Amino acid sequence: MASRSGPAYNAAVDEFREREYPMLKDSVYLDHAGSALCAKSLMDAFAAEMTSVLYGNPHSASSPSQLSTARIDDIRIRLLSFFKADPADYDLVFVANATAGVKLVVEAMKSLPRGYVYAYHESCHTSLVGAREDAHSSICLDDGGVQSWLDGQDPFNSASQATSAALFSFSAQSHMDGRRCPLSWAKHLTGKALKDSPRLYTLLDAASFCATSQLDLASPDFAADFTVLSLYKIFGFPDLGALIVRRSAEPVFDHRRYFGGGTVDVVVCGKEQWHVRKTQFLHERLEDGTLPFHNIMAVDAALKAHLRLFGSMDRISAHTAYLAHQLCNGLRSLRHGNGRPLCVMYGDAPGDAGPLGAGPVVSFNIANSAGGWVSLAEFEKLAILKKMHVRTGGLCSPGGIASALGLEPWEMRRNLSAGFRCGTDSDIMAGKPTGVIRASLGAMSTESDVHRFVDFVREFFVEDALAEPRPKTLESAPVKRPSSLRVKAMTVFPIKSCGGFRVPQGTRWEVRPEGLAWDREWCLVHRGSGQALSQKRYPKMALLRPVLDFERGTLRVEYQAQSQGSVLDYVEIPLVANRVFLDDTTRQMSSRVCGEDISAQTYMSSGINDFFTDALGVPCVLARFPPGGRGLNSRTSKARMQKHQQEDNLRRLPGSFPDIPSPPESDSEQQQHGKILLSNESPILLVYSSSVDALNEEIESRGGEAVPESTFRANIVVESLVGEPRQPAYSEESWSGLRIGNQDFTFLGACRRCHMVCVDQATAETRQEPYTTLAKTRRFDGKVYFGSHMRHEPGARPDASSSQPTIQVGEPVTVYGGEFM
Ligand SMILES: *Cc1c(COP(=O)(O)O)cnc(C)c1O
Repeated sequence: MASRSGPAYNAAVDEFREREYPMLKDSVYLDHAGSALCAKSLMDAFAAEMTSVLYGNPHSASSPSQLSTARIDDIRIRLLSFFKADPADYDLVFVANATAGVKLVVEAMKSLPRGYVYAYHESCHTSLVGAREDAHSSICLDDGGVQSWLDGQDPFNSASQATSAALFSFSAQSHMDGRRCPLSWAKHLTGKALKDSPRLYTLLDAASFCATSQLDLASPDFAADFTVLSLYKIFGFPDLGALIVRRSAEPVFDHRRYFGGGTVDVVVCGKEQWHVRKTQFLHERLEDGTLPFHNIMAVDAALKAHLRLFGSMDRISAHTAYLAHQLCNGLRSLRHGNGRPLCVMYGDAPGDAGPLGAGPVVSFNIANSAGGWVSLAEFEKLAILKKMHVRTGGLCSPGGIASALGLEPWEMRRNLSAGFRCGTDSDIMAGKPTGVIRASLGAMSTESDVHRFVDFVREFFVEDALAEPRPKTLESAPVKRPSSLRVKAMTVFPIKSCGGFRVPQGTRWEVRPEGLAWDREWCLVHRGSGQALSQKRYPKMALLRPVLDFERGTLRVEYQAQSQGSVLDYVEIPLVANRVFLDDTTRQMSSRVCGEDISAQTYMSSGINDFFTDALGVPCVLARFPPGGRGLNSRTSKARMQKHQQEDNLRRLPGSFPDIPSPPESDSEQQQHGKILLSNESPILLVYSSSVDALNEEIESRGGEAVPESTFRANIVVESLVGEPRQPAYSEESWSGLRIGNQDFTFLGACRRCHMVCVDQATAETRQEPYTTLAKTRRFDGKVYFGSHMRHEPGARPDASSSQPTIQVGEPVTVYGGEFM
């Protein structure tokens, strides 16, 4: 795999990939250290060993146990030599992951008689930043700060710290953008510090570096006292980390107080309490409890498979550096029709990173043709759909991200109070991205991954200046006069994210302030996380079909087979929400719906909960959120008019920058929007059937397959009457009001879509349409819209005949394009 050009080489890699990584079929996996995937031959070799040899828990005299102990000792030495470390100079401690290695060092440092002061480089991973919390004082250094230190300016200048030990952490390679720090820092800094006491220790994070480069502890430049790394990032399997300790730094651990099973020679309890620690090897003192011995055995299989598959680390470095270069160039060369570049790259390009080189990690953000940022959340939705597996967000690299994006601490504070959190839907805040897109290459990445990824970015994000940048609807001005349509279908979704119940023809259906009666009154809540389940994650929810049976007073939920639509099982839930009745069978529980805390009544019946748990294969309970609640028992609509729906002059370009201010989102306005139950955004979702037809034509013209109306999960579908003047397709996004029968409704805004529209509601299978085409034709400001949110206007037209407002299928619909009447 070393030679770097020619079709023969690519063909060889592709063949290798097919054989060794069958799970990568159809996927482009560019998530940190691509080698973090299990090679088939490694798993086969491991399975063969585990099923043919009896290994026992180490620490005992039985022969299976002795066999384990001997194997672990061998593997420890083999692993040291993989990093070219001489066992006379280094010991290797098995830990759960790189972070656990950091924690062992921190625990020892803080137990030193005078504790420690801490310095860390700004590119450090969160796991190393956290080490500052146990230090007397800490400082974050950029390159300049480290250089001043090397030039003789001690960053810890306070006299009170003069007697503490010091710890300096840095990354061999940033996992955020591949930047490398000189390994010689450790040597030069400790060299200086040795002259003046107390001692400075250095902690090197090699987790990202090791995945694609040879870590060489024999190099005369290598001087770190502690090195942490993750084995799974190198070999894919097993899930283990290692802490490699320079023997001269072992005394740091002498003050560690805790001892666990296996780390002591003698322990006395009772009247006297004392113990004698093992002393021969550091690893004996630090590996508390039973070692993950099967995992450690797998390291042997991993070392062998790695050698067999890749030959050497240097070959992987050459391969991944070449691919990173290709990827970087590919992304850099993308231009919008107006000539503006598409990608803003972070970190050095692999070619111009100087003598240290840069890791095969490519970080960037995407700008639209007007220079505005494309939101990471929208990028992710498309990437997931197209099976482009990359990481987005802050990537556990607080300092690296802040410096790449120029985020100041006050901006982070503002973003925090505006709701930004690590690991949640990352987005653009106040005109700046809060994270990056990261594609990282590994040993099993191929040139075709790179091409497919660049093609993906081109296909969905390059805006061609010649193409019409405006929404299609704008070609025909919104109709200002009333126009006739009728209700084609009405559907309620009693259980959030499950199948719908079609309101039968001829049945008058109540509309409430929260939406159509019985819509989203129940949800399924994950037993562990308390999160409401969504079809986005569990597509099989579409196969749970509710039937409202008012005669029997039940909600009957049928679980349909994926293929023929036969009913596999069902459960019945009483419709009555009488409090006395509920109290025996449910209990109040807080859960989360769309990131919002709510308090719902959860059912206790194991018959009901087991039905859903078995159907979905997810431990969950049914919960009810009846209408009329307050406080945590109530939610308000979030839908609002989107920029592309507003005045024409504000609609110049999607995502134009600087940002056009959004309509106010004040509390009073939220209240005006009214209450909702468990729906995501608004009381009622409406879709106009001509929009579905237009979209399907578009999909078919691009070679795709048309999708049924049900895919949009609308509550109300309206259609034009034959022979009457038609509203243009997609015009529901510009309507302001609507009358169905004698009930009035106000529009709240267009419905933002995610890839959940790709779940086939009949089979629960996921396809790429209609999101792929929507993303190309209905994307404004980087967000994809289809259909419109609305709410009922109670009392706008008092209905003398009944106290409950109702509507029905087939009723005439009048649309107001202008002012609401
Ligand atoms: C992955 C990574 C870590 C964390 O490793 P764990 O094994 O998850 O503890 C730390 N630093 C860098 C540079 C990494 O890439």
